Amino acid sequence: MKRKNESPAPESLGLATRAIHGRKLFAHEGPVATSIAQTSTYRFKDSEDAVRYAKGDPNVYVYTRYHNPTVREAEERLALILGTEKALLFSSGMAAITTAIFSLVRSGDEIISTPGLYGGTYRFFRDTLPRHGISVRYVPAHEVGTIARMITRATKLVYFETPTNPTLQLVDIAGIVKATRAGAGRTGSQVAVMIDNTFATSLNQDPLRAGVDVVVESGTKYLGGHSDLMAGVVGGTASFIKQVHGSLKHFGGCTDPLAAYLMLRSLKTFPLRGQRQNENALALAKHLSKHRNVLRVLYPGLPSHPDHKTAKKQMSGYGGMVTIEVRGGVKGAVTVCDSLQVAINAMSLGGVETLVSIPVYSSHINMTKEELGTHGVTPGMIRISVGIEDIADLKDDFDKALRKL
Ligand code: PLP
Repeated sequence: MKRKNESPAPESLGLATRAIHGRKLFAHEGPVATSIAQTSTYRFKDSEDAVRYAKGDPNVYVYTRYHNPTVREAEERLALILGTEKALLFSSGMAAITTAIFSLVRSGDEIISTPGLYGGTYRFFRDTLPRHGISVRYVPAHEVGTIARMITRATKLVYFETPTNPTLQLVDIAGIVKATRAGAGRTGSQVAVMIDNTFATSLNQDPLRAGVDVVVESGTKYLGGHSDLMAGVVGGTASFIKQVHGSLKHFGGCTDPLAAYLMLRSLKTFPLRGQRQNENALALAKHLSKHRNVLRVLYPGLPSHPDHKTAKKQMSGYGGMVTIEVRGGVKGAVTVCDSLQVAINAMSLGGVETLVSIPVYSSHINMTKEELGTHGVTPGMIRISVGIEDIADLKDDFDKALRKL
């Protein structure tokens, strides 16, 4: 058996090992599974504990909105998975995104973003930020080089997703970072680059290597992976995460210890699930490309995808999301979604079960024609979050449903 001081540093281990063991590799005796500290508050050893906490002693716990041992364990393992110095767990992806953004911007500031965003984030930019005096300007996904010229002294954040929802368009990560640094150099300001890495996850895409500063993810999706928990994560430098933690305490989007436990359980199989989802998605995308009732298949791993070259450059796997456009517009999409037996007609993504949703009825509902056009969303689109089922069952399920058109 290895002695503790002979253990390799967790960062040098493979992702699967880090997902299973975290930092506690060979380090201690006790239960293999993490205990759930299902408590809102903590008994002090003596009243001096309050003083020790106020002085910053990390071993004194006072209140679960501030910190919790189960949540902390999940955060440490998430930092190893994201590859960031530190990570913070939130009650949802939107709590993570909004808290991270409000930690960076204030009234009078400006954000530059690409338009292909998760609907909730897009609406937060459109409806909430302007009420706080924060504006958002958009740059087309394929013109991110112009960010270098767009940046003004008011710009504090460049925010984007890749692949985008639901069209799976690719945004050049290194290109965004380069243009941001050039623009910030010109104006002499500090501009952070933040990515929502929910669709690709750190299994398939490493934004930090390209120079991104902050990674956010909806943990509800691939990290949780079983459609049974809500969570969000922010990863970044220790000093930035300290800042976000201050905002978390004010906004209150902390994780419940049970959700943190479920997250820890899920992380152990995260790389395994992700690999299987990659394989199934590629196989299903290839299969559906040949179907006469499918007008278009959007999957970054297909050579026919308009951004395949960028995908090859910045992704090590192409992910589990596939979007198709079927004959018959939204009526066709409804027929297919209502006929599937294995795939489930449900919102969300990233779980072990295959889910389908119609963007104009879900993530992009209530958007104007112009907004749909900007996002490249059409009525006949079906977004498929491919699960880990037997691929033969999935192909057969889609074939039968598409035959109804
Ligand atoms: N980011 C992306 C890309 C998403 O798809 C979602 C939810 O669907 C979110 C963020 C928000 O996450 P949550 O629902 O956990 O708040």
